[in-house]
Amino acid sequence: AFNFSAGPATLPETVLRQARDELLEFPGAGASIVELSHRGPEFMQVAAEAEADLRTLLSIPDDYAVLFLSGGATTQQALIALNFAAPGQVADYVVTGHWGKTALKQVQPYVSAHRAADGEAGGFRDIPPRDDWRLSADAAYVHYTANETIHGVEFRDVPEVGDVPLIADFSSSIASEPLDISKFGMIYAGAQKNLGPVGVSVVIVRRELLQRAGQPRAPILDYAAHLQGESMLNTPPTYNWYLAGLVFKWMLAEGGVAEFARRNARKAAALYAVIDGSGGFYRNEVAAAVRSRMNVPFFLHDEALDAVFLDEAREAGLISLKGHRALGGMRASIYNAMPEAGVQALAAFMGEFQQRHG
Ligand code: PLP
Repeated sequence: AFNFSAGPATLPETVLRQARDELLEFPGAGASIVELSHRGPEFMQVAAEAEADLRTLLSIPDDYAVLFLSGGATTQQALIALNFAAPGQVADYVVTGHWGKTALKQVQPYVSAHRAADGEAGGFRDIPPRDDWRLSADAAYVHYTANETIHGVEFRDVPEVGDVPLIADFSSSIASEPLDISKFGMIYAGAQKNLGPVGVSVVIVRRELLQRAGQPRAPILDYAAHLQGESMLNTPPTYNWYLAGLVFKWMLAEGGVAEFARRNARKAAALYAVIDGSGGFYRNEVAAAVRSRMNVPFFLHDEALDAVFLDEAREAGLISLKGHRALGGMRASIYNAMPEAGVQALAAFMGEFQQRHG
């Protein structure tokens, strides 16, 4: 089956096969990777390769640190304020969907969170134009969500915010296309969409930003301490980290992010073409210029057909197409690991379904 889940999401078949083959005994180790100490030579090698491969894949500059942490993207959303803002300091939030709201909610106990721009009044169907943003003069940072996984709204370009550190949630679009990391103070992502299995998050942060005093916090909530402890302040999610490392190697072997950008553009274009060409049988309500290439939410013209669509799709080997409960309808998540054949199968199914039920 082709799995369109928004996350945890489909992983490359070759990665799953390698993980299966290595599960009982990691090559040369005499034990499974899940049984080995994170400080032993085998896992230290896995960790070092994962960082080196991610640096190559994303062209991460040397003045940026890379952390592999547990706690998911939501925990990073809270840690941003504790690490980079003084108590009660203003932090600017550009809210373009559900996850932007979550990010803002996580920091409310710590900072004066200011909605510098907000697409909620328009149902999060568009990104407020940059000229309309009300950025604060003295903000600790500006935060935005590069791709809104539920609303299907994606920034095409990195916004200009002057000298204030720009922090972005790339959970559902990291590694989907080339990105100039030097424009950011920090980006972060839960792995469970484009990077691997749930359980590990990647934080890429400009080293100089780690010198900020931030707020009183335990070492386990401190990014600088995590860097010093090589992301091993607590026992790290070794298996997830290992699997993410396999995904990095797979992405490099497939041609890197530039190749995935080409594939992702073709996949998204194919799906939106079916939706837009359906004469209203299917609809996507997001402004064309900011439609996500990773998550394609769509609605059938008649809600009564939703269950039939999902049943028939499942029978055709197309699973996890149910939309998020906040929006209803359908959602096809088409991350890097979704093959083009999967999207072609979905597009063909949607055309046939319309013929049968239109
Ligand atoms: N940010 C975005 C863009 C997401 O899509 C998600 C989860 O789907 C999250 C944050 C939350 O991630 P986590 O469940 O790892 O905390």
